Formats: sequence, structure tokens, C-alpha cells
Amino acid sequence: MDPLISPRFPQKSSFYQPRFMVNYKKMDGKDILGITYFSDYLKPTQVVHDLKGKDKVHAIEELLDVLAKHKLIKNKKLILTRLIDRENLDSTALGEGVAVPHARVETGGEIAIAVGRSEKGLEFDAPDKKKVHLIVLVVWNPSLPGLFNHLFAGLAHFLRRADFRQRAFEAKDKGELFNTLAEIELRLPHEDKIISRASLLKKLQEIEMKKGRAPKAQLKTLQAQVNLIREELDHALLTRFDKLMKRYGFAVAEVEDGVCQGCNINLSTQMSSAIEGSNDIYVCENCGKYIVAAKKKKK
Ligand SMILES: [Zn+2]
Repeated sequence: MDPLISPRFPQKSSFYQPRFMVNYKKMDGKDILGITYFSDYLKPTQVVHDLKGKDKVHAIEELLDVLAKHKLIKNKKLILTRLIDRENLDSTALGEGVAVPHARVETGGEIAIAVGRSEKGLEFDAPDKKKVHLIVLVVWNPSLPGLFNHLFAGLAHFLRRADFRQRAFEAKDKGELFNTLAEIELRLPHEDKIISRASLLKKLQEIEMKKGRAPKAQLKTLQAQVNLIREELDHALLTRFDKLMKRYGFAVAEVEDGVCQGCNINLSTQMSSAIEGSNDIYVCENCGKYIVAAKKKKK
């Protein structure tokens, strides 16, 4: 059977684990197939209880200053540029007041994280238009491409819980904020979906399509954007994306009124209600394409 249209694809085991087993069996002598905690990467000194920055760029810069002060990053200016480029490509706001700005830059160490809370909230071009009250800034080493996915999945899982967000937003001081964050467990999601990456994958498809008809002068810029996106998406996801692109000319389809626009077939009620309004990536059980929520509902 064609693996791309097999309803059983992707299988849980083939989707995440092989790559994970190969690359991340041991890190710092720890087996991260077990649970590790966010606090393995975060110290209380990397937490800002009340950000002074009044906009996205200043808040990000404030967090970079914290990392620079503790010698966790070297080239602040370069990293700031990379973070802003990434924001301009596709906002890292997850919705519900949380954003995870990130860049893959040589840091000297494996990963540098800073967390800031903003009482007033910051404009972040979030999918739900809500202001951001919690920023988790992540700079990670290019030699560890999969680490971010692991971290991101764990973060997204916790930050989706309203009770958890509430405690982080309402933390009275730095200690309380840190203790809340320290509860975050990092592990890969077990569902057949990819958390909070739908808009990014859709963007990748848009740019790939644009590349086909772009004048030569534009190709370099477009390729740079493609590279920026590809380096933070999971390898298995990209392999499958490329196969779909090659075969159908597109890999990501929107879901409108419960119908996959890639094959015009109704999804199960359960799946279509899960997708609606989310930024997660699913796989169509009928055509095997990636399916994401439509940006705007047709009226
Ligand atoms: Zn379909």
C-alpha cells in the first residue's frame, strides 16, 4: 500500500521515535527518553518577573541581556536579528498570552533559555490577537537540531493548561514564577499530531510555491526563509512534506467545515473539532496530506 495514503500513516512509532532514539539517547549522560524537567535548562537568574520592555523587540532584548549577563550567549546583536527575522516570518506566539521566540544560533553551550513575564502584556501578532504575558525565549545550538522540538512539545503541553498559565501569569515574585516553570516536564507528545506548528508548515508551503514562479533576484531571500523554517521542523515531518510536495504539488491542506480541502472528503467529527481553531498539524486519514485549520471560516 502507498505509504502516503495509508490511513495508518504516520504510525506513532515511525513518526517520532526512530529519530529521537538515534540522536538523543544520551545527552549529558542523561537518557532523555525519560522525563527531564524544564528547570534542567533554567535557573532562577534566567527569569524576569516583570519585563520593562513595552514592545516585543525591547522585551526580547531585555531577556537577551539576562542571558548575556550570565554568559549564556555571546553575540547578542546577531541573535536579536535572528529572533526578529523569525518573528517577522511567523509569530512565535502560541495564543492565550504565551510566546516562544527562538533562534538556532551557535551559543557555545547547547541551549540558552530566559523567561519573562509581562503584567501589562505585549503585542505579539498572536493568532488569537491576545497580548502576550509570558515569553519563553530559546536559543539553541545548531548541532542539536532536535532538542528544540523536544523542548517545544513539553512547553506547549504545559502552557496550554489554563490553570498552569494562570499561575505563571499571576506569580507574585521571581521565585514563584520559577517554581511554577520548574514543573514543566519535557517529553515528546504521543499523539499523531504536531503541536503548534501548523502556521509554520503552511508558510513553508507558501514560500516553496512562490519559489517556483519567483524571479531569480528573489530566490535567495526565499531560500533563506525556507532554510530558517526547515531547520526548526522535525526531520520526519519534512521528509514527508517533501514527498507530498513532489507528488501532489502541495502537502498542506486546510480544513473547511469539516472537509479536507486536499481530497474533499469529510473528516471524522472528532478530528475536525480537534483541528478547528488550533495551530496543530494533523494528517488526513483519507489522502494522507497534512491538514490544518483554515485561517478564516467561510461565511
Ligand atoms: Zn484529505
